[in-house]
Amino acid sequence: MIVGVVGGGQLGLMLAQAGDPLGIRFRFLDPSPDAPAGRVGELIVGDYGDASALARLAEGADAVTYEFENFPAEAAPAGVLPPAGALATSQDRLAEKELCNRLGLATAAFARVDSRDELEVAIERIGLPAMLKTRRLGYDGKGQAVVRDATDAESAWVELARGPLILEELVPFSRELSVLAVRGRDGETAFYGLAENTHRGGILRVSRAPAAPERHEQAARIALSLLNELEYVGVLAVELFDTEAGLLVNELAPRVHNSGHWTIEGAATSQFENHLRAILGLPLGGTEAVGSSVMVNLIGDTPPLERIVALPGAHVHLYGKAPRPGRKLGHVTLVDATEDDVAAMLELAASAEQGQPAPAVQSIR
Ligand code: AMP
Repeated sequence: MIVGVVGGGQLGLMLAQAGDPLGIRFRFLDPSPDAPAGRVGELIVGDYGDASALARLAEGADAVTYEFENFPAEAAPAGVLPPAGALATSQDRLAEKELCNRLGLATAAFARVDSRDELEVAIERIGLPAMLKTRRLGYDGKGQAVVRDATDAESAWVELARGPLILEELVPFSRELSVLAVRGRDGETAFYGLAENTHRGGILRVSRAPAAPERHEQAARIALSLLNELEYVGVLAVELFDTEAGLLVNELAPRVHNSGHWTIEGAATSQFENHLRAILGLPLGGTEAVGSSVMVNLIGDTPPLERIVALPGAHVHLYGKAPRPGRKLGHVTLVDATEDDVAAMLELAASAEQGQPAPAVQSIR
């Protein structure tokens, strides 16, 4: 079987690593000749909107999917999965929130902002503090600014007003969670245990899973309602805020997701394999956790490999990308590790990111 994938980043790499044992071959489309997935499949170098490159990607493929959602939904090849409608909705924070509210799923209060005057009206309605975000093309905390007063409002407007915006209430959440869900071509669904996610500088740093079992049922209900409404096929990630009033939906990602990387070693079937099973019309695999996982992202630079693999229960994934501040270069999942070993891994990741030598063993064990 052949799967075509729009995007050749680390998510594509891990899709291919999951598909290889199943005999699936991969073809990727990415503008960069150095795309990480190039080492595990055929890489077509071209723009995401390039019709002839997209046609080559889809030619003879049993399924076409994407690992990156910021490409023109209109350019998506016919029959792409997850469906183009889900892709289009998730590209627009306003459409996403309107869909949630139509389905009775709670979100932060929000208002559309298309002009400076509308920003004032939105602030009146939502109140302060609030968060101003670009509706499109935001990721890893880019394209958003907190607004606490009139001065912030002016600077946020100047910084972000290059396209349509949305103003959201600043949610007083106790923690950030995400649920990974999968729906097959025949409508079969499955849900992973929740991940509890820690961000810094707008970038995901750590996911612990399974977490918050008391919220699992509500999260699965939310995800199920979105999967069915969108006639979804594949893995869907739903980012959630946990609040006193229950879960609020923050964002949808119509693809495999960083907060689901723990499933590679920490669940019966990984999110990557289940995504492939779903889009190829195969039965889904079990989503149950096989231990307690902590996934640590390696950002900016990577710690010495020998120090990571020395930690019991550590599974390393390096994506083969050049170091650069703020860039996700890899991740490590620790399954059933001690808190000391988790703390050691966090310290290794932090030191590498700050350009400092790895801390001496004595200080971290
Ligand atoms: P997003 O790009 O929407 O996932 O936002 C990135 C991060 O900003 C989230 O993971 C939250 O930590 C924070 N954030 C986003 N929206 C809000 C909000 N309405 N209230 C509070 N924090 C938010």
